Amino acid sequence: MQDWPLTVDKILDHAARWHGDVEVVSRSVEGPIVRTTYGEVHARAKRLSNALKALGIARGDRVATLAWNTARHVETWYGVMGIGAVCHTLNPRLFAEQLCYIVNHAEDRVVFTDLTFLPLLQEHRAKMPSVEHFVVLTDEAHMRPDLFPDALCYETLVAAQPADCAWGGFDENTPAGLCYTSGTTGNPKGVLYSHRSNFLHTLVTLGIDVMGFGARDTVLPVVPMFHANAWGIVFSAPAVGAKLVLPGPKLDGASIHELLEGEAVTFSAAVPTVWQMLLGHLRENALRLSTLKRVVIGGSAVPEAIVRGFRDDHGVTVAHAWGMTEVSPLGTLAAPTARIAALSADEQLDYALTQGRPPIGVELKLLDDDNNRLPHDGATFGRLMVSGPFVVGRYFKGEGGVILDDEGFFETGDVATIDRDGFMRITDRAKDVIKSGGEWISSIEIENLAVGHPKAALCAVIGAAHPKWDERPVLLVKLEPGQKSDPEEFLRFLEGKIARWWMPDDVLFVDDIPLGATGKIDKKLIRERMKDYVLPSGGG
Ligand code: ADP
Repeated sequence: MQDWPLTVDKILDHAARWHGDVEVVSRSVEGPIVRTTYGEVHARAKRLSNALKALGIARGDRVATLAWNTARHVETWYGVMGIGAVCHTLNPRLFAEQLCYIVNHAEDRVVFTDLTFLPLLQEHRAKMPSVEHFVVLTDEAHMRPDLFPDALCYETLVAAQPADCAWGGFDENTPAGLCYTSGTTGNPKGVLYSHRSNFLHTLVTLGIDVMGFGARDTVLPVVPMFHANAWGIVFSAPAVGAKLVLPGPKLDGASIHELLEGEAVTFSAAVPTVWQMLLGHLRENALRLSTLKRVVIGGSAVPEAIVRGFRDDHGVTVAHAWGMTEVSPLGTLAAPTARIAALSADEQLDYALTQGRPPIGVELKLLDDDNNRLPHDGATFGRLMVSGPFVVGRYFKGEGGVILDDEGFFETGDVATIDRDGFMRITDRAKDVIKSGGEWISSIEIENLAVGHPKAALCAVIGAAHPKWDERPVLLVKLEPGQKSDPEEFLRFLEGKIARWWMPDDVLFVDDIPLGATGKIDKKLIRERMKDYVLPSGGG
């Protein structure tokens, strides 16, 4: 057979050749909604490749982006990757110190940024000595020389170059992208994706039991390109010629609803908090979703209320997915099998709420603390391990040393069960699981039940030290604005839904539950804030 290197430039070539008129719609950072096509995106990405070469960027060099989901950002990805340079996505929600650390560690030579982040970059640029150029993803009219006098203008760079530029022609194992994990423990570590791993991830996620959209779909990735590659949608949508809608900086319920309806979106993907905001907005304003058919939800566990809200109020199918930066990111997705599709709606819901099953290309196993394999019986929980052609083998620059076990599996840091059909349930993150009397309590499960209380806006469960039981669960509740409650009300609400010994020893009402850079509850910070906390029983 032919040796046809799996490089991602071929994806946009394909889209431009066969779906050249298909639209790419963005809510621009400047404000208005702007329209372009795969043909245009392709031509401009090639111009950008020429501009990068003119700036001295060569194969293997790191080029960073600090940007929202827009067509210009898509052009930048392909323009960088097409010439064998590495596109490094920066997460603007990180603390400035962490951003500087990551830019230095990656030795980024150019940073492409949205206008939004100019003040941040101006303040910290002295701490990014490897960066030779800052390029603002805007036109001359919107440049801000007052804020950043020597920044380059994206539109000017692109306009000055021809649209013919050779892409690809290198080994499929050439690095294409770089993304750092948010580093909830220690310094952030880089995951270096190859062209091959991205290409294979694209093919796998396009399976009908995975994301499974096609040329008749309109796809809106709300999940940011800086968060685990927008779950690969910037590759998979052009790969099949789906219309692509990009939300720019506005992720609130009203803005997302406007795009969903205005652009007749059929498929979307985001973390639970985004969908919670959207469903809240729809409820408060008695609005409908008239075209949306399917949403993928992942990044943290989806609460039942969201699945029901989409299904019962709007006829939208929810696909719950699990993944992580180290898995490109998609690891599992909860699509029913024939046996499950034949069950009642309520029984199907049990499966829809799992994190899902692995597609071809993802291998899972569970281990106990002595590295023995555990059974796939849907009940035994253990350390979740993953292997496959788009799973990390080692971190960028070898940080953290050897990260695979003897069988080549990567430890996810999650604790899970797996049933006989492969449906995986995350019980907890290994570091968040509550160890009580030698048994494990899932903080996530209690949180998801508690947040179903109509007065709760956000809930977090952490373990508090206990002299006899080691740890006991404490529930933190942030109430909806204007609501009042007491611990008893929440305990009664949980009663019967969880085992008695899982019942929180205390319920605390708090003004704020901190979220980390990828929109997840920041348990590390909560634990820090509660380091002097003593259980009401005095821990006795
Ligand atoms: P970070 O570690 O910075 O949050 P990732 O986005 O890579 O970055 O997070 C991966 C982790 O997110 C997983 O290891 C898992 O703990 C959690 N996660 C992802 N999807 C889900 C899900 N559907 N349910 C529960 N946890 C999830």
